[in-house]
Amino acid sequence: MPNFLHALRWPLLAAAILALAWLPLPDYWITQLNYIGLYSLTGLGLVLLTGVAGLTSFGQAAFVGIGAYSSAWLTLHTGLSPWLTLFIGLGLTALSALLIASLTLRMSGHYLPLATIAWGLSLYYLMGNLEALGKYDGLLGVPGLQLAGFDLGQGRGFFVLTWLLVGLAAAALLALLDSRPGRAMRALKTGTQMAEAMGVDTLRSKIVIFVLAALLASLSGWLFAHFQRSVNPSPFGLQMGIEYLFMTVVGGVGYIWGALTGAFLTKLLEDQLQVWLPRWLGSSGSYEIIVFGIVLVLMLKYLPEGLWSLAARLRPAPPRRADWSAAPPLAERHKPARGELVLDVQAIRKQFGGLVAVNDIAFQIRAGQIVGLIGPNGAGKSTTFNLISGLLSLTRGQVLFCGQAVGGRRSREIARLGLSRTFQHVKMIPDMTVLENVALGAHLRGRKGVFSAMARLNRAEEAQLFKEAQRQLERIGMGHCLHEPAGNLAMGPQRLMEIARALCNDPVLLLLDEPAAGLRHQEKQALAAVLRQLQAEGVSLLLVEHDMDLVMNVCDHLVVMEFGTLLTQGTPAEIQQNPKVRAAYLGTEH
Ligand code: ADP
Ligand code: MG
Repeated sequence: MPNFLHALRWPLLAAAILALAWLPLPDYWITQLNYIGLYSLTGLGLVLLTGVAGLTSFGQAAFVGIGAYSSAWLTLHTGLSPWLTLFIGLGLTALSALLIASLTLRMSGHYLPLATIAWGLSLYYLMGNLEALGKYDGLLGVPGLQLAGFDLGQGRGFFVLTWLLVGLAAAALLALLDSRPGRAMRALKTGTQMAEAMGVDTLRSKIVIFVLAALLASLSGWLFAHFQRSVNPSPFGLQMGIEYLFMTVVGGVGYIWGALTGAFLTKLLEDQLQVWLPRWLGSSGSYEIIVFGIVLVLMLKYLPEGLWSLAARLRPAPPRRADWSAAPPLAERHKPARGELVLDVQAIRKQFGGLVAVNDIAFQIRAGQIVGLIGPNGAGKSTTFNLISGLLSLTRGQVLFCGQAVGGRRSREIARLGLSRTFQHVKMIPDMTVLENVALGAHLRGRKGVFSAMARLNRAEEAQLFKEAQRQLERIGMGHCLHEPAGNLAMGPQRLMEIARALCNDPVLLLLDEPAAGLRHQEKQALAAVLRQLQAEGVSLLLVEHDMDLVMNVCDHLVVMEFGTLLTQGTPAEIQQNPKVRAAYLGTEH
């Protein structure tokens, strides 16, 4: 797409919506498109929830119901304008979503889907049994939407309103996903450990996502109530909740446009099937449900990423256009002076059931020192790392980082104090570019949240974050593949990318777990150069590594572990001479 078209894509989309409304399209099609717009809004929420964050909800229809019922009841009984009751409905939705999210999102596994099923069922029966809500007959005579004398409650007026809202929601979500909080959200699908280590509050992120998805559903419900001019429980039950999920999965739950594709195709298919199936089968009934079931199973088997993934494959995302070379650098943290004590590991212990994986290990790191942690496989090196960085809780002992006791703190709080790490098994987001993955490491150096992101008020900060990410990637020799999807990288470059990501946090202490594994000779030499450069800048390093050349070359001090215990520690020369180490460790290696 040429540049000027790219800049004008949203105004053009709005113009297309208006043009469609004025085209001599049959009323029937306008009505169909209105429903598709309503479904799309709810679907957009599901993309965020399921596609981005990996959380499954069968209860979105219940949130549609809250938006619909609250506005219907309030406009009928209080005479308030629907434009006001919209916000009351959104408020009620946010409250109930917050409640459900804070109760269930802490739990892992199937609790959330089960809770949303329970929520969908109970709200349905509540709506159906409350006298004030008209029981299963619902509420009739709900007013339509008017604005400055225009009838927006039906037909083309409603079409314009709904599709402008769909366009706005899609634009806001696209902007969100391409932002600091959005990258944190996209990291959730691969588990929470890496995101937490980058300083992301993953529970909060999930709650925000759940509430946003519920608000989109509620907005759809508000439109629906004033479009139908009546509400009753059946469109808000569990079956509809399942259908919303079905639509979005078929369309492509990982893509914003997948929600629209799914709503469009399911609605068309449903209409056609309702006409043709009874004719073919010779009797009436909801046979389309069976066909939908079959389609879903086939889709999950042969095209699990949904129909839009085909389109996405045809036209991969264009590289980032923004130029951030003029952005001011991010503020740097105050660092301890060379030689000051940075890390004081005090007799830490970790027990996994009967196995003592780390047995009263103690050592210290001073500012500007490179310390190597070595020992045979299974010695407890990675576990030691995880204890220091807060990924695992200590069974006993204490860790002081820059004078603060960090034992028992969450990894994101320790990251905030200036401790960064990489993982023995690379943790990244494969479908995000290298640059975006690395920018996640600078999470704690940005401030802009969800609303700034959606309104694109975060551009200046984004430029700073990307500039920093690019700087760290170039420093580590990866400036040539900024826009490559991270999943395309070979093992060695993936590890380098993790180091660049860790460096984006402007660390006082950097923990590297087997950084040279999978690296080629030249890459190893480049890595050694980067480590020395970091040391010269006053960064402290703790290194787990099997490559003895690298370890002996760059480390000032070595800590040797075996079977969870501290075998000895000293300078590389001392360690090489130590007969215990030769017997226990070097002997087995060489
Ligand atoms: P290293 O990194 O030195 O190879 P690890 O720290 O990964 O060793 O593992 C040390 C010991 O602790 C091993 O015996 C391993 O099986 C065990 N271990 C590590 N993590 C866990 C865990 N989460 N649960 C149970 N045992 C574990
Ligand atoms: Mg390990």
